[in-house]
Amino acid sequence: MSPMPSESVRVVEVGPRDGLQNETRIVPTSTKIELIERLADAGLQSIEATAFVSPKWIPQMADHNEVMRGVRPLPGVVYSALTPNLQGFEAALRAGVNEVAVFTAASETFAQKNINCSIEQSFERFRPVIDAAFTAKIPVRAYISCVLGCPYEGAVAPGKVAEIARRLFASGCREISLGDTIGVGTPNQTKVLLRAVSEHVPLSCLAGHFHDTYGQALANIYGSLEMGIRVFDASVSGLGGCPYAPGALGNVATEDLVYLLHGDGFDTGIDLQNLIAAGAFICEHLGIQTHSRVAKAVQHA
Ligand SMILES: [Zn+2]
Repeated sequence: MSPMPSESVRVVEVGPRDGLQNETRIVPTSTKIELIERLADAGLQSIEATAFVSPKWIPQMADHNEVMRGVRPLPGVVYSALTPNLQGFEAALRAGVNEVAVFTAASETFAQKNINCSIEQSFERFRPVIDAAFTAKIPVRAYISCVLGCPYEGAVAPGKVAEIARRLFASGCREISLGDTIGVGTPNQTKVLLRAVSEHVPLSCLAGHFHDTYGQALANIYGSLEMGIRVFDASVSGLGGCPYAPGALGNVATEDLVYLLHGDGFDTGIDLQNLIAAGAFICEHLGIQTHSRVAKAVQHA
């Protein structure tokens, strides 16, 4: 597969939220802000900065107001936040958010265990968020987790994911991010899923969110590129790990995604060296080794 000349891919950096929320050590607010600004300086234009959720649920995100208000606005850079309910949305709006995200799952058991409600109830919870965002002219992104498998229920039917995606799109979500939360999918399964979902939602409104738990993330991304997907989520240094398999990998590392995209001729607007430096910065603060293969190769070259 060769991209059209200067075809671009948008990378959504989820490290400061999806990544850090799974790190047990609480990161100081100033470090989070510096990470976000380094990522923006490296050319990332979509950065999920924090989550407006109760600190009781996710202590790492307790400083959401300070983080959102603290980041320096840059032209063309969108700082988004996860806002699972209206209260969170209103706080995010006051803090100056550019875009919000809501969250559901393709597996009933996962929804119950992860957000303490049924899939149907999750729709009821975020419907007011979507309505309020529409009024405030704030774009809404939706995450569907467990699209290629669930830690409790096993296989997930593509038709079930397609139906949830259809409803999210119909209710006004601008982009739907399909999450392989436990990283079990393979490229052909990914393609079957994308065929099912794209019957209801345009490919241009879908994003791939692949975890590398079973080492399949880049293969699934490549399969998605072949299907026409041009938006991918990733976490700098592969921050976050996998809460369902301690010690295993979670989000694909942004550095590895960008290396693949640039090598295959896609434009991202991202400077890989600066991105690697941003990754090194946060790994040093967390006292961890990077999960990015590319960062390891470059640092040891
Ligand atoms: Zn993730």
